[in-house]
Amino acid sequence: MNLLIDKWIPVRSEEKIKYISLEELLCNNNDHEIITHRDDMQLATLQMLICLTQVLFEPKDEVELSKYLVTELNKKQFQIAIKDYLEWFDLKHIKWPFLQTRGVTSKEVTPIQKLFNGMPEGNNHTWRYESNSRINKVCASCAVIMLFNQSTNTPSFGGGFKNPLRGATPIITLVKGKTLRETIWLNILHKGFSSKHYLNKTVNIPNWVLRINKDDEVEGSNFSLLRGLFWQPGIVELIWQDEQAQAICDSCAITTNNIVVGFKRQKFAYKLISDFLHPHSPRYFYSKDGKDTTIYPSFKDLPWWTQVINLVLKRENGFPSLGVVQYQELFSDEELCLIFGGYNNNQSKITQRSYQIFLLPKGWLKNKKYLEIHLSLALEIGVVLRKKGYGVGKSMGLNLLPGDGLSNLLTQLQKDYYQEIESIMIDFIASINLDPVNEIDNQLVTKLTEIADKSLTDFTRSYSTYVNPVSVKQSIDITIKKLINA
Ligand SMILES: [Zn+2]
Repeated sequence: MNLLIDKWIPVRSEEKIKYISLEELLCNNNDHEIITHRDDMQLATLQMLICLTQVLFEPKDEVELSKYLVTELNKKQFQIAIKDYLEWFDLKHIKWPFLQTRGVTSKEVTPIQKLFNGMPEGNNHTWRYESNSRINKVCASCAVIMLFNQSTNTPSFGGGFKNPLRGATPIITLVKGKTLRETIWLNILHKGFSSKHYLNKTVNIPNWVLRINKDDEVEGSNFSLLRGLFWQPGIVELIWQDEQAQAICDSCAITTNNIVVGFKRQKFAYKLISDFLHPHSPRYFYSKDGKDTTIYPSFKDLPWWTQVINLVLKRENGFPSLGVVQYQELFSDEELCLIFGGYNNNQSKITQRSYQIFLLPKGWLKNKKYLEIHLSLALEIGVVLRKKGYGVGKSMGLNLLPGDGLSNLLTQLQKDYYQEIESIMIDFIASINLDPVNEIDNQLVTKLTEIADKSLTDFTRSYSTYVNPVSVKQSIDITIKKLINA
């Protein structure tokens, strides 16, 4: 199966799945919806489409990008662009199978289910699909999507295997458009923008073609977008069922004779000595021994509004993804609809996953200081609440609970508070408009303070009727002053 020619993109067709090719998607005006049996698979499919479009059809400037946002590519242009890349994106290529290594020596075949990381364990309210049945065999399309996901977004297979370039579980943030094609193009960096960030990128060949050796020192900062976006940190080879036999894919349920039953893998280590700047994730830096290291954080299991600052606003050492930055430059007056997803892990095991969409209304960027102050304030009130709760908890002897008793209680107290104020914060965000505002919304602050005070009183009363509740109000007043003067 060749990703540039064959029909591998799963889209909804009435109530079923059908597969279309990249050309059908990019060279037609029809809208499509990606459909897979898990939401992380859906996000991985979208990422693959964005990565392919980025390396094959990078627009030269914002004018060309704006054109592709409204007009489909023409078929001739498509065919010319893919010509030189056909061999690198073929899943069964005799020498360079996509994201794989030929001739893996290991005798053991790992079941394909291992690529569907996190199943069947791990469940939280953000999962859209239950998937507890076993996966023994999958079609080429489901296999390649999850192979890409494993090499890009999930923890390695464990000791002796390397994590993806951004680390084990990076957050992914993508701009969402009105149609699938618009979503793809909204996340494509144009050359005028990307050349500022990817200067002197010397290595423009994927690493299943231009290999590295075991224990090599690898300069991620030298990678072109093609090498970085499709980096395969492991040595893996898919194992196919005999093509004579037909079977049903356990993931998407189509019947096909192109069936993957498992894969072979081999431990492989190298040393990444400089970072690849990945355009689809927020990141921050920390300096150690005079060297800047890039960290791609994992998502936190908190309501989305608590994470807006880190996902879309530039802070001291933190940056939104390049895709989001380019969008802000090009469409500063427009609303921002953001898809964000990712996993949490305990070493090689996925413990949670998230796939969410949120909207910042028109005018959010003009009022970003106003937005930032109020979001920070709501978050800080949660921190004050936790601190006060600690004092109260200690005085009642709750810190003597077995294990990490008091700390767990306070984490829950803070989480419950963020959950409780969610609708207030969403209303606040939605009320931002193009008119500039500089004042503190005192009504909002009063509401949040009252809720925090009540949470603390309830927390205290649930353990003892003899302790006088402490108020958070005074500490909150100090916090507000600090934030406004910052
Ligand atoms: Zn399938």
